[in-house]
Amino acid sequence: MYILHTETSRGVNFLIIDGHTYRQASVLKHNNIALRCTIKSCKARVTTQSDGLTIVKTQNEHNHVADDRKTEAKELRVQARKKSGDVSSSPSKIVRTELQGMKESHLEPKDLKNASLAVNRERCKDTLAVYRERCKDTLAVNRERCKDTLAVYRERRKDTLAVYRERRKDTLAVYRERRKDTPVLPKSRDDVHTATGLMIIETNKSENLLLRDFSGCKQSAFIF
Ligand SMILES: [Zn+2]
Repeated sequence: MYILHTETSRGVNFLIIDGHTYRQASVLKHNNIALRCTIKSCKARVTTQSDGLTIVKTQNEHNHVADDRKTEAKELRVQARKKSGDVSSSPSKIVRTELQGMKESHLEPKDLKNASLAVNRERCKDTLAVYRERCKDTLAVNRERCKDTLAVYRERRKDTLAVYRERRKDTLAVYRERRKDTPVLPKSRDDVHTATGLMIIETNKSENLLLRDFSGCKQSAFIF
């Protein structure tokens, strides 16, 4: 019995057994894998262990003959894809090398072309994966830098605010001190008399600039 185990591009188990192709249908207990023939109308089934190669059970006969060309083409694609990591060889060279190791007899030129394309696709996947990882790293670095910059700004802002607060305190203290020397804002004529009584209002030649009536009369006037 000739068995070739591989996976589809979506990571689903795929088997080629004596020219028949099987695709994973489900995963059973003990991680055994149930596979069914890729021909939809066929009821042939196999069950393998989790390695995908050790056959535990086979069920039903195939209702068709094996498609040798299709199977060989699939086998060539699988084998060529496995060698895609060797970037020193071109895809077509990899396919030619793999062909030499196969006892193929049914393949057509388009099957070889498809195998080359499969190698290219596999390489593309690897390249994209590398770019994605790089992108992630760059973003992580940028995020960290951003955090650091913000932290610096936050600290600076704290310092600036502290300085402003201190200055404001000083300014308010100065105002408070000045207010002590200044009479209260007069609200009535009596208040004006009291306030002007406390103030020295003179010219620079020490002459009285303000003349007040000290009679205590509420109608008293001020003369400048
Ligand atoms: Zn079948």
